Amino acid sequence: MEQFVPQRVFVQKAALAYEKGERLVRKLSSRGIPTEVYERKVPALRYRSAKDKFLALKRTLVIGVWAQRDFQTCRPSAHYQLPLVSGCPGLCEYCYLSTNLGDRPYVRVYVNTEEILAQAQRYTEARRPETTIFEGSATSDPVAVEGWTGSVAEAIAFFARLESAGFRFVTKFTAVDGLLGLDHRGKTEIRFSINSDYVLSHFEKGVPGLERRMEAARKVARAGYPLGLLIAPILLFPGWKDNYLNLLRTAREYLEAALAGPPTFELITHRFTSRAKSVIRQVYPDTELPLEESERQFKYGQFGYGKFVYPAGTMREVEEWFREQISSTFPQSRILYFV
Ligand code: SF4
Repeated sequence: MEQFVPQRVFVQKAALAYEKGERLVRKLSSRGIPTEVYERKVPALRYRSAKDKFLALKRTLVIGVWAQRDFQTCRPSAHYQLPLVSGCPGLCEYCYLSTNLGDRPYVRVYVNTEEILAQAQRYTEARRPETTIFEGSATSDPVAVEGWTGSVAEAIAFFARLESAGFRFVTKFTAVDGLLGLDHRGKTEIRFSINSDYVLSHFEKGVPGLERRMEAARKVARAGYPLGLLIAPILLFPGWKDNYLNLLRTAREYLEAALAGPPTFELITHRFTSRAKSVIRQVYPDTELPLEESERQFKYGQFGYGKFVYPAGTMREVEEWFREQISSTFPQSRILYFV
């Protein structure tokens, strides 16, 4: 899936007062996509099963106005989340959004981008002279809907001009052509989420494959963007070392000639919450994801819920292995964090 085409659209009435909201509705309606206006709550439809509901909502676009007062913090990847989009049409079985969005996984886009960016400016000014980094993909994959909204491009242009601020987002989608000619001034880091063959073939659906992602990564590197690679979730299965080593070598082959500077790496081992497990079991009953609590260690997270992570000894071994392999495949790169 290169460009998400929703099957149904719900538009918050207030969103129609914004030029972007009105334009989006016109564009979607002209494609024959059914569009319904709501006032306060997204209408709840009836579905035959929890699985049908989940899959239908993944194909549903909600166009709304971001109306909260504060941005959420976003450790360890940034200082704040930048709420341009929430949700994602992809169907990765392990998706962390199963915890955040649970059984209401709409793809929701916010049309008051100027107000959101003005809020980012206020946060930045309050923290100066420190640099403030905003994460555009904390609860979404914003590139999946970029062809409709153009919000990522707006944010890139905005942060290029804003002193003491930076923008970053991660994606598995490849619709990056609209970003290549922007005057980004190196202030936006674009990261691609990549994984081993085993993880791609067993657990990722509805997202572009590795080659398409690497081609998109090469394009953004050639356009001078700082580039990052996110390996998440790192899953341990028989042969994981060979599989992840192949991944690193493939990434090097694609990127070597295009990189202006060394890439960054972010490494996130597989974890799950009880809420995510129950969504996964309902939607993907035959999943081969390892979801056995007794094989994991329980850890409290920053948003108040606990998650099941690999035991400490395993984590140490995996971290050591990745650090060693990355430093030999991409010698100048920086590993921002391993969790
Ligand atoms: S691409 Fe990312 S956000 Fe989208 S379903 Fe897959 S893991 Fe979730």
